[in-house]
Amino acid sequence: MPDQLSGKSIIDDLGVTSLINAGGPNTKHSGSRPRTEVIEAMEAMSEVFVDIEELLIAAGKRVAELTGNEAATITSGASGGLVLQAAAAMAKDDPEKISQLPISDGMPNELIIQRGHRFVYDHLYLGPGSRFVEVGRPTDCTVDELAEAIGPNTAGFIHLESPFKSELGVPLTDLADLAHNHGLPVLTDGASMLPPRENLTKYTGQGADLVSFSGGKAVRGPQSTGFLVGKSEWIEYARLNNAPNPGVTRAQKVSKEEIAGLLAALEVFTSIDEEAETRRYREKMNFLVDQIAEIPGIQTEVLHNYDHYIPHAVIRFNRDWNGPSYGEIVNEMKRSAPRIYMQVDYRPEPDRMWVDPLNLQDGELEIVTEKLRNILIESVNSK
Ligand SMILES: *Cc1c(COP(=O)(O)O)cnc(C)c1O
Repeated sequence: MPDQLSGKSIIDDLGVTSLINAGGPNTKHSGSRPRTEVIEAMEAMSEVFVDIEELLIAAGKRVAELTGNEAATITSGASGGLVLQAAAAMAKDDPEKISQLPISDGMPNELIIQRGHRFVYDHLYLGPGSRFVEVGRPTDCTVDELAEAIGPNTAGFIHLESPFKSELGVPLTDLADLAHNHGLPVLTDGASMLPPRENLTKYTGQGADLVSFSGGKAVRGPQSTGFLVGKSEWIEYARLNNAPNPGVTRAQKVSKEEIAGLLAALEVFTSIDEEAETRRYREKMNFLVDQIAEIPGIQTEVLHNYDHYIPHAVIRFNRDWNGPSYGEIVNEMKRSAPRIYMQVDYRPEPDRMWVDPLNLQDGELEIVTEKLRNILIESVNSK
């Protein structure tokens, strides 16, 4: 180890290359940068010992206050929250059932999911032993179809809020009415839907019983953390199914330092002036868009909407574009020195790529802009 410890010295020692993260808080590219307050809280928390269960209960109350919800509990990422949602729906607070999972014989274990809400992370729901009952088509579904799928083995409904999913299927309020008429919970994944901060209470307000959010994305807590918000009864079921208790969720424990770090992150996150924050991101993205707007064959604009949680510089090819694909351009950015990660549309038929300003550090916007501009110009010239 070198005399002076730094992030660079640690990765140099391992032979790992750093990257500029212009693609947003994606786990493969290190999530987001934990706030200074988070690192300070984690270090301070390392000085004390506590009963983790007492800490989790108290911290959950604090998360509920900070987010404006009835109840909350801390999880290992939003993914850990999805596992707990399924476990809670099946085993509730029955100690025998909790310890029986992931063998779910003898208890309702079916989760009804609309085909349009299937997504890369949904297997987490299967982790504690549930099964999916799929309903509808990839682009739509009706309340009647959902109602017909209910049977004696139904444990709950899954609902996804995620970019490019808003128009697909039955609205959350309608789903919640149906579910509650049958005494069933609505389990919602809203992992990446922060900001806007209003989403902290939006889905619970629309009737979701449990909503899972990431602590390691734009909240900028420890990468490994997340939190569930929702109704007291369901939060308690989730907590009883969670580590530190032995059982299937033991593999997703959260340390006291991570708990303190997430609380510090949420305290800052919920007190920030979102309008001012958005303005800063927009200015950065306007700068980038201005530098590439004239390149022939592309359309570029700053988008901030349901699909783009903060202002993004979105680049789309015109119909007459015959240069490299979105994927090829993004790969070329990642091969360049310094390596730059930017986001390519992850739907089956991509129609865009974008730069996300969340993780850009001082001086990096200029580097990303110049590299992207050069690669796009070369792509046009090589046609
Ligand atoms: C990011 C994400 C997850 C996983 O969240 P982690 O906090 O990384 O575990 C789950 N579901 C959706 C929709 C996501 O976007």
